[in-house]
Amino acid sequence: MHNFLPIAYFQNQFVPFAEAKISIATHALHYGTGAFGGLRGIPDPNNPQQILLFRLDEHCKRLSNSARFLHFDLPADKIQQVIVEFIQKNKPTFSFYIRPFVYTSDLGIAPRLHNIEKDFFVYGLELGDYLSPDGVSCRVSSWHRQEDRSFPLRGKISGAYIASSLAKTEAVESGFDEALLMNSQGKICEASGMNVFMVRNGKLITPSYDQDILEGITRNSIVTLAEHFGIPVIERGIDKTELLIADEVFLSGTAAKITPVKQIENYQLPKVRPITDKLRGKLVAITENRDSDYQDWVYKVPLN
Ligand code: PMP
Repeated sequence: MHNFLPIAYFQNQFVPFAEAKISIATHALHYGTGAFGGLRGIPDPNNPQQILLFRLDEHCKRLSNSARFLHFDLPADKIQQVIVEFIQKNKPTFSFYIRPFVYTSDLGIAPRLHNIEKDFFVYGLELGDYLSPDGVSCRVSSWHRQEDRSFPLRGKISGAYIASSLAKTEAVESGFDEALLMNSQGKICEASGMNVFMVRNGKLITPSYDQDILEGITRNSIVTLAEHFGIPVIERGIDKTELLIADEVFLSGTAAKITPVKQIENYQLPKVRPITDKLRGKLVAITENRDSDYQDWVYKVPLN
C-alpha cells in the first residue's frame, strides 16, 4: 500500500487526500490529455524542520511548458507556490515524491484542448528506492518511443506513457527489470521513465535533445556535473551495439536518481563503474545538502 501525504491540492484548494476524487467521465482519463511533473522531497538531514527539493524551478518550468501543449496557461511561479504550500501543510518526515498534474477536467466527450475545463492538482506519497541502486537488467523493447511529429515529447504528457508501460511490462514479463526504447531512427533514446547514459573510453555519451527524449532534469544536472569533473560529454544518438560493449551504462531520473545497468539482454556489463559512482556520489550529496557546490539547485522549504 502507498503511504500518501494527508493533504492534496485539488480544484484550487487544499483538501484531505481521500476527498480529492474525480469522475469516471473526466475527459483526460479517456484521451490521455494530462501532463505531470515528478519531484523528490527529503527532510534535510541537518535540519528536520526543512524539506529539500531538487531543482524546483526547473520542474515547475517544465510542467508549465507541458501545460502549454495542453492549451492551459499555468505559470511556473503559481506551480511553485502551490508545491511549497503543499509541503508546509503536510510536513513530511520521510522521503517522498510529489506529483503535480494538469489535465482536462471537463466531463464531456470528444478529444480536443480548446473550450474545455482544466484543473491542476498536487499530491504526494512516500518513496524510497524506485529501482535497485545496485543495478538493473534491461531489455531493448520491441515498442518504440513516439516521434516528436506525432507527440509533444518535450512535455511529460500522460498519454505518452502507454509506450513506457508496454515496454516496461514486456521487459518485466520476460525476466528483466527495465526497458530501453529505441526512437524511430532505431537509436536507443531512453528507458520507461529515465534518460540513458553510457561511458566509452572515459567519455560520457547521452542521446541529444533531437533524439526524441524527455528533457530530463537529472540528465541536465549530470551533464553539468560531468563537465565539473572534466569528463568529456558527447550528446548524440546511441546504437544498441554500442551499449552492449560500453564500459558503463546508467539510467537517470528524479525517481531513479542514477541507477547502474548491469546487464542488457544476455550481455553482462562491467561491474566496476568509476564514472557512474563519481557522478552518483556528487548528485546524491548535492540533493541531500551535503555538498557546497551547486547549492542553488536545492530549494529549501521551511516547515515552521
Ligand atoms: N524520461 C522519461 C520518459 C521520464 O518519465 C522521466 C522522469 N521524469 C525522465 C526521462 C527523467 O526525467 P527527470 O530527470 O526530469 O526526472
